[in-house]
Amino acid sequence: MTKKITQTAGRTLLGDIAPEFAHFNDDVLFGENWNNQDITLKTRCLVTVVALISSGITDSSLKYHLENARNHGVSKKEIAATITHVAFYAGWPKAWSAFNMAKEIWREDLKQNESLNNYPEELKLHQKCMIFPVGEPNNGFAKYFTGQSYLAPLSTKQVGIYNVTFEPGCRNNWHIHHAKKGGGQILIGVAGIGYYQEEGKEKVTINPGDVINIAPGVKHWHGASTDSWFSHLAVEVTGEESSNEWLEPVTDEEYYSN
Ligand code: MN
Repeated sequence: MTKKITQTAGRTLLGDIAPEFAHFNDDVLFGENWNNQDITLKTRCLVTVVALISSGITDSSLKYHLENARNHGVSKKEIAATITHVAFYAGWPKAWSAFNMAKEIWREDLKQNESLNNYPEELKLHQKCMIFPVGEPNNGFAKYFTGQSYLAPLSTKQVGIYNVTFEPGCRNNWHIHHAKKGGGQILIGVAGIGYYQEEGKEKVTINPGDVINIAPGVKHWHGASTDSWFSHLAVEVTGEESSNEWLEPVTDEEYYSN
């Protein structure tokens, strides 16, 4: 049994001006027709994409339905074959437009883990704002975090580089990167707005492109701001006898104060 399709775009976007249209869109077109299983959902997605391309509709609705097709198992090869086929019947320029849109959507797919399909919508939007992958739920370190974080190892040789993504309000515990010589950590803001704080100092905002150098032995924490998803690269600086010491969680009082 496939998951039931639900759609709220009609009410969200047109509920005020056209409640009847919103009702037909959300409850009948998507609520009933999209849930009819006489043809597979994947086929239905492709038929819709073909219909839109044939009509010359290459705006946000085609983008939505291309993403929908990808999310329901249409591979890069399959969408390429579909658009190539439809080009002969519907027109070459329409295929060009569709390909320009599709290449972005399936390019993203290469960098994303399949599980991203089940991630929150806000996280998918956040992923679109950055070139590095979100990766997997950061279960291994969850006990050292308040809130949900995600981890994508980018480099595990020479120097460890990880893309860490935090949901709004999420932060790691107070911790210290120890090393006898060298060591410490470098953070580089990638997407969204985050915070960094050293013990005894004010909280610092991390914007995309900002670089934070954390000396070994300094007690600190990092995470998202209150209302933004946030990703930073964490660069593990090589050191002698390096280790991480995880300490107490950052309390709401500490997190919400300066
Ligand atoms: Mn750190």
